[in-house]
Amino acid sequence: MLSLAETGVSRSNRILLVLAALALYVGFCVVLTTEGLLQVTGSALALMLGGWIVGFVLLLFADEVHGRFDAGALTFARALWCNLGVVFLAVLVPSLLRLLLLVVPLFGVLYAALHLSRSRMLRIAVITWASYLVCDGVLILLGRGELFFEALTWVAFTCMLAAMALMASEVTALRVAFDRRRERLNEAMEQLSELAMRDELTGLYNRRYIMDVLGRQKALADRGHLSFTLCYCDLDHFKRINDRYGHQVGDRVLKDFAEVAGSVVRSVDFVARLGGEEFLLVLVGADEDTAERVAQRLCDRTRFLTLIPEDPGYRQTVSVGLASFRPGERVEDVIQRADRALYSAKSEGRDRIVRGS
Ligand code: GH3
Ligand code: MG
Ligand code: MG
Repeated sequence: MLSLAETGVSRSNRILLVLAALALYVGFCVVLTTEGLLQVTGSALALMLGGWIVGFVLLLFADEVHGRFDAGALTFARALWCNLGVVFLAVLVPSLLRLLLLVVPLFGVLYAALHLSRSRMLRIAVITWASYLVCDGVLILLGRGELFFEALTWVAFTCMLAAMALMASEVTALRVAFDRRRERLNEAMEQLSELAMRDELTGLYNRRYIMDVLGRQKALADRGHLSFTLCYCDLDHFKRINDRYGHQVGDRVLKDFAEVAGSVVRSVDFVARLGGEEFLLVLVGADEDTAERVAQRLCDRTRFLTLIPEDPGYRQTVSVGLASFRPGERVEDVIQRADRALYSAKSEGRDRIVRGS
């Protein structure tokens, strides 16, 4: 179904259009009455028109009960009510005007095809047709209409309505096919953007995405909002795992470590694999003390993992460099400070956490 935003007509303009159409309809009825062109008296018309307007206003606000008020949106009841209003008026005016007025419900059906389901659009067409049949019958029974003319206009209206319903059906089918394709395209786009931000092996964020995150976090921190601390992690002697047990085992260790890293942070934090056996934790709103506690948890949990079933005694250690963002500095600078701290951790004997200066 077309949403309001997709039609290119703003909500306020749509409401203005509805009010203009309503004013046009009422004005038209008034002119017809004052010119004596209607087959009913002024008071009878006023009653009918009043009833129709009350119904129209009720329908405008009916959706508000369900918390979805939208005066500009086309619903089944609104479309049907408008078509019936025009049909009732059409049977009351002289023949030439009637033919012109009967074109309006045809457009109502076509318009419904743009916004409603096929079955609803067809229901509107059938009810419009049946209401014209009934009104025409009443007119003949009251001796106000000429049988041959009424039969002729009824046949013409039936044919035009059937043709319009057919065309509207095709419009609906095209719209549904278009909607499905668009949905599939949206899903594919979502998958693609998800793939573009994730590391294939571990499912963690990748370097490109975490650099975007850091750019956004820096902008926030520079404006005096939440700052952040980086934990630059590197698995110790990881090359040995590959050499001893093969690449596949190495990959599994990376995945297991990624899972542990994800489990030690809060949902507002970010964990990324920068490449190889290097990972970056972005701890939002955390100072170095908090970050050290998180890093300590990560080191402890990793140490107690049984990562290699062939060697249950194997203990993996991690070295971590910490650096808190300083307002005004570049993202590259804070990463470099964390990297330097990591380098110190390595050179001081690994399996430790070092704060950047
Ligand atoms: P250090 O304690 O100094 O960090 O030593 P290290 O062995 O961990 O570091 P080094 O940089 O010498 O080796 C990193 C190894 O990580 C080398 C490379 O084969 C391995 N590696 C990088 N990416 C992957 C990967 O995706 N899968 C696997 N299995 N190994 C990887
Ligand atoms: Mg390493
Ligand atoms: Mg490394």
